[in-house]
Amino acid sequence: MSKKRLLIADSSERFHAMISEGDHAKNYDIHFVKTGPEVLQEVEKFKPDLIVLDLLLPKMHAIEIMNSLEKTTPILVTSFEVMVQNYHAALDHGAIDYIIKPFSADYFFEKISDYFKGSHTPSKFEPRHSIPTESGNVYNPTPLFSSSYMKFWGTRGSTPVSGPEFMRYGGNTSCLEVTDGSDLVIIDAGSGIRPLGDYLDLSKHQELNIFISHTHLDHVSSFPFFDPLYREGITINIYTPVSFEKTTKELFTELLAYSFFPIRLDEMRATVNFLDLREGDRVSVGDIHVDCCYTYHPGPTLGFKITTPHAKIGYVTDNEMFIGYHDKPTNLSLDDALLEPHLELIEFLQGCDIIVHEAQYFPREYEQKIGWGHSSISNASALFRFVDCDRWFVTHHDPKHTDITLQIKFELHRQILQENGIELELRAARDGLIVPFQ
Ligand SMILES: [Zn+2]
Ligand SMILES: [Zn+2]
Repeated sequence: MSKKRLLIADSSERFHAMISEGDHAKNYDIHFVKTGPEVLQEVEKFKPDLIVLDLLLPKMHAIEIMNSLEKTTPILVTSFEVMVQNYHAALDHGAIDYIIKPFSADYFFEKISDYFKGSHTPSKFEPRHSIPTESGNVYNPTPLFSSSYMKFWGTRGSTPVSGPEFMRYGGNTSCLEVTDGSDLVIIDAGSGIRPLGDYLDLSKHQELNIFISHTHLDHVSSFPFFDPLYREGITINIYTPVSFEKTTKELFTELLAYSFFPIRLDEMRATVNFLDLREGDRVSVGDIHVDCCYTYHPGPTLGFKITTPHAKIGYVTDNEMFIGYHDKPTNLSLDDALLEPHLELIEFLQGCDIIVHEAQYFPREYEQKIGWGHSSISNASALFRFVDCDRWFVTHHDPKHTDITLQIKFELHRQILQENGIELELRAARDGLIVPFQ
């Protein structure tokens, strides 16, 4: 009696080898192909008694092949796919069976032999359950949140913005949290400080320290909405640069005058202390140290260096680098007079692991905004020719810059860095971004 002819289509060499080895294969005349179109050719030439198709063959899947063939030759479908929809699709298209890989050659040939004996029934679909491993272990890690990190609560400059066009980067003005274990410092009290206030666990933080870079509205405007102000037993220390005009206490008292806000500073439940900052000052909060350096901005404005046991972060949100300069960053040199107002800041930022620095304007915008106290992308990039730091988070996004505009701006920013040979990791700060330090 002549051997039954099997046409087996499967792209896996391993599968071909598994079927060919062993005694069963000798009882059949087997022809292997690897792709869908080859099945259609070989059916004509080889005239198989049974076709075995892998469900997802290259170039044509099994269902397409079944639709293309006259249903004269029986077809058996094999697959690693354990989804019931695929099982039904194969049987509904006339397959005699759908057998799920991996299987042994013995199992396979038993099915084939049953079929030719007329005693075959299609396999019942059995959903795949977890595969027990020898060790019995299940790998299911729980997230370990770092206790040393910085979190951007507000990354917008000038004024808060809202609307769908600002969803990606967010609309809150400046506020940064730096936490290391039980130590916490807050930088700036822009509108980002409101959600921060709601998030803080005050049972762990009865004394809060807020460092204000300067008292422009985008850095203080949401101070009255900081929930801990309304909690008994909380002390809030507010550090600000010594102003040109009034004391910080006078400024905050005015900010909280009844005409602007229904609760006055002296009616707050928390104890609020105002402390002066000057360039060169260092304030320590537990193991976090905050150093100060003036930036180039209208009124006394400080950049901070926040040193934690796990990171040294430079934080400069408002700073106009190289006033009036429009040329390429590479055309500036260290002895250029334009660098002189920035030499202290350059020195101050050396050795930071991360620098958060603004780059508010496209170069074409900066042409119209000289002296406003903010940098063009290219001038801010030039700073990194002189400061040794390879991680830059850009913040203080312009309120006119929508998500799409900011994405274009970051593309241009990367291009400027590349064209000027400035190698660093550039990241866009956005509201809610957490940067872990360990
Ligand atoms: Zn600002
Ligand atoms: Zn400002």
